Amino acid sequence: MIKNNICPKCGCREIGQGKQVAGAKMQPIGKLGMSFGSNIIADICTECGYIIEMRVEKPHKFK
Ligand SMILES: [Zn+2]
Repeated sequence: MIKNNICPKCGCREIGQGKQVAGAKMQPIGKLGMSFGSNIIADICTECGYIIEMRVEKPHKFK
């Protein structure tokens, strides 16, 4: 999924989406266990590598 974002650093309009995998999950503090983790998704400028936005895939797990 490509969004219509513009990189604030270099003005590039090609924004790609990345996903942190292999143990780089965000986990709610106090809730231990692999099933509580959520993948981190990032919108990344394909020109300069700037990360425009980062968010977890399943935010309701952090309630
Ligand atoms: Zn950029």
